Amino acid sequence: MIGVSSVPLAKKQVLILGAGFAGLELAARLSDSVADAVQVTLLDKNDSFHFGFSKLDVLLGRRFPSDVRLHYRDIAKEGVEFRQESITAIDPERRRVTTDKGSYDADVLVVALGAEYDFAATPGFEEGGFEYYSLAGADRLREVLAGFDSGTIHVAVLGHPFKCPPAPFEGAFLLHHQFVERGIREAVRIRMTFPMAAPVPVTEEVSRMFLRALDERGIEYAPKQLVASLDVNAHKAQLTSGESVPYDLFVGIPVHRVPQVVTSSGLAVDGWVPVDRANLATRYPDVYALGDVAGLPISKAGVFAEAAAVVVADDIAARLAGREPPPPYEGAGNCYVEFGGGLVGKVEANFLGGPHPTARLIEPSKELAAEKKAFGATRRERWFAA
Ligand SMILES: Cc1cc2nc3c(=O)[nH]c(=O)nc-3n(C[C@H](O)[C@H](O)[C@H](O)COP(=O)(O)OP(=O)(O)OC[C@H]3O[C@@H](n4cnc5c(N)ncnc54)[C@H](O)[C@@H]3O)c2cc1C
Repeated sequence: MIGVSSVPLAKKQVLILGAGFAGLELAARLSDSVADAVQVTLLDKNDSFHFGFSKLDVLLGRRFPSDVRLHYRDIAKEGVEFRQESITAIDPERRRVTTDKGSYDADVLVVALGAEYDFAATPGFEEGGFEYYSLAGADRLREVLAGFDSGTIHVAVLGHPFKCPPAPFEGAFLLHHQFVERGIREAVRIRMTFPMAAPVPVTEEVSRMFLRALDERGIEYAPKQLVASLDVNAHKAQLTSGESVPYDLFVGIPVHRVPQVVTSSGLAVDGWVPVDRANLATRYPDVYALGDVAGLPISKAGVFAEAAAVVVADDIAARLAGREPPPPYEGAGNCYVEFGGGLVGKVEANFLGGPHPTARLIEPSKELAAEKKAFGATRRERWFAA
């Protein structure tokens, strides 16, 4: 049991750092299952959440950034209090957290701070490159694309791991379709470099499907190629192989890392936070880490963060009640993949539930596009409504 006094009156203080996919799901689950036994404080530096995939909507001009934001002030879950604060220090041994507005001592501490981008890791990228992995970046790139009508676009994955394995490919597919719609596809060359041998290394079937889709759209693809830096003046990408590749517009998927405050806390080892893969517990008592911040052999994606939150919520509830722990985390979930032209596919993956990771792709269709829309709506309802 979570060790505190035998007096059953005081609620346990659960402090969740980060109100992303993992933090929101965890807060909602705890509210639904043990609101009588825990008080949840949810901290985030921002005032709102947005789904990763809504950046693609912004990139294409389908939605404005202001339309995709879900404001935390609308959270109405029993026993959950949201506070907009920036976390400046984490002491995992004492479960003490310092923010720009004060400090907290938690009975249970949950680190769900996601991954951030290290733009400076690729020299020249900040000055001369574009990205759609942040909302502001997607909006900026949308504007630049509006004025782009011919030349070479280089889409480059600049490091590994990165969020949402299909997203770089989705970006390339969607750019292709935008140029077709604008009648300028013939005048644009799209080239993609990718650091690994296969688009989705855990599954040949999904990788083959992506390769076919790239080929059908005339997108040039170079695997096992990493851009080391950009020569902004010459408009050339310098590859680690020594090759130098010219571009007119450079679109990079930035290098990812844990937020600085996680690095300073000592929680991270080899870049990410090690956890027990069964229940997402860290090596510190009553401290969990889940979602993109955790160092597990699974893809970094919201659906896996959400599934981890379910296990952590059940683990906390079981320990409070002195019950058996929940079944172990499987790292399972379904990711939607946009192929352009209103077609959406789905990858069903399970990383930890069997002897090997498995993933299969369900062919793109308009029906899956509707399913993807419903995915967002159900989360909005579950995380925010009372
Ligand atoms: C273009 C794109 C498309 C994507 N598409 C999909 C998709 O279709 N399906 C899918 O499952 N995933 C998708 N993803 C990935 C998904 O968005 C992430 O994997 C997911 O958000 C991870 O959840 P998380 O809770 O671990 O972290 P996050 O959702 O990133 O949440 C972390 C939170 O911590 C907060 N934070 C960080 N540092 C501090 C601090 N110092 N103080 C206070 N708060 C802090 C941040 O503000 C943030 O709200 C996509 C991502 C991108 C970029």
